[in-house]
Amino acid sequence: MNPEDKQFAVIGLGRFGMSLCEELSERGAQVLAIDINETCVRQAADIATQAVVADCSNEATISELKLDDYDLVMVAIGDDINANILTTLLLKDAGVKTVWVKAKDAPHCKILSKIGADKIIRPELDMGIRIARNMLDKRVFEFSELGSGISLAEVVVTARNMGKPISKHPCASSDQTQVLALKRGPEVRKAPDMEMEMQVGDILIITGPENVLSETLRKL
Ligand code: ADP
Repeated sequence: MNPEDKQFAVIGLGRFGMSLCEELSERGAQVLAIDINETCVRQAADIATQAVVADCSNEATISELKLDDYDLVMVAIGDDINANILTTLLLKDAGVKTVWVKAKDAPHCKILSKIGADKIIRPELDMGIRIARNMLDKRVFEFSELGSGISLAEVVVTARNMGKPISKHPCASSDQTQVLALKRGPEVRKAPDMEMEMQVGDILIITGPENVLSETLRKL
């Protein structure tokens, strides 16, 4: 299934929810935007596939909107923590497969994970971590530990490697690392040909032992 064929619903159209709707729609995804506030819904109507006024902390609303048919539902209700928790609980009870939720603080995260939220997002915290990484190294877009000493890095190709084949990139030349994909703009090429020439701004998605990756990243 193409990401564009996925059906998303966003509940809560504050700054966070609205920007999600914008980005998802711009990338061609189907988005249902929901809020109890009519003004927010009117604004979202220009962006999303469909926009409705509804209170999602109500069981009947969730079944009327058939939210269990959606691939991913995002609960982006912010200030009203009760509504945020209740909506998450009702969505999981209704059998929605994937529910992502915006959380306020650590105790809120704890409750959300107990009631089955599939992903908990703390936008300010997550963004702070990303920006700090960026401040430290503009060439590493993302670095995550997969467990058992293995990590995944998203490395940005700089002018130094422009025009060279992927196999010549310092992070790809070790036999302990593996290039899983290359991102060029919105396009992702899985298992790219190692002779493919790199362009500035390409992102290589590489996996390997954490110490080997960290060492090669230092040499960039
Ligand atoms: P942000 O910090 O992202 O701007 P807000 O807390 O300001 O988030 O916005 C959350 C949105 O969620 C508001 O527009 C509010 O009207 C909406 N909202 C609150 N409760 C519900 C609910 N029960 N059902 C649907 N939308 C809700």
